[in-house]
Amino acid sequence: MKNKEEAVVVFSGGQDSTTCLLWALKQYRKVYAVSFDYGQRHALELSCAKRIAEKFGVEHHILDMSLLNQLAPNSLTRNDICVDEDAPKEGTPNTFVDGRNLLFLSFAAVFAKQRGVSDIITGVSQSDFSGYPDCRDIFIKSLNTTLNLAMDYEFDLITPMMWIDKMETWKMADELGGLDVIRDMTLTCYQGIMGEGCGNCPACKLRKRGYDRYMEYKRMHQ
Ligand code: ZN
Repeated sequence: MKNKEEAVVVFSGGQDSTTCLLWALKQYRKVYAVSFDYGQRHALELSCAKRIAEKFGVEHHILDMSLLNQLAPNSLTRNDICVDEDAPKEGTPNTFVDGRNLLFLSFAAVFAKQRGVSDIITGVSQSDFSGYPDCRDIFIKSLNTTLNLAMDYEFDLITPMMWIDKMETWKMADELGGLDVIRDMTLTCYQGIMGEGCGNCPACKLRKRGYDRYMEYKRMHQ
């Protein structure tokens, strides 16, 4: 029998994973939030995650993943590499971290299995595809199969955000009663500015466009 009472959420303290956390709290009796410390430029990201987990009384684990930064230094971990303002015409953006989701989900799976949990929730989305290969549905399905084979266990990688865009993510947060939490307590900005952010980086632009569209949608449907 699979344990459908508990789940592990891969939790960065950003908009998508926080919305996933709120979603999971409605579906499961117990939720574990797992964050990774990979030398993010903004340790603020982890403290946001910590604060949000505390607010909802969620058991929160921060796992050390500094190895990732040793192997693949990138603009999110190094001060001397600037974040690209716009997505490049080809190749992956310099905010892409080689192997990140592969490693995070694999470690989350080990963590989950140790606790007899099979459901692992991640906020990756293919809709706002920003050139990250490890956010695609085909990658998640492939990794799910690999993890099951690797550990002889039936994991379910669950991706509530896979086919929805940023506007719908705001809608989902609102329906879960978490619009304020997401707006005020999450960190999405590549410059490490909480809430509304810097307004200029790709993550801020995407977030704001979605928020404005959702506010417009709400006005039309009231
Ligand atoms: Zn920003």
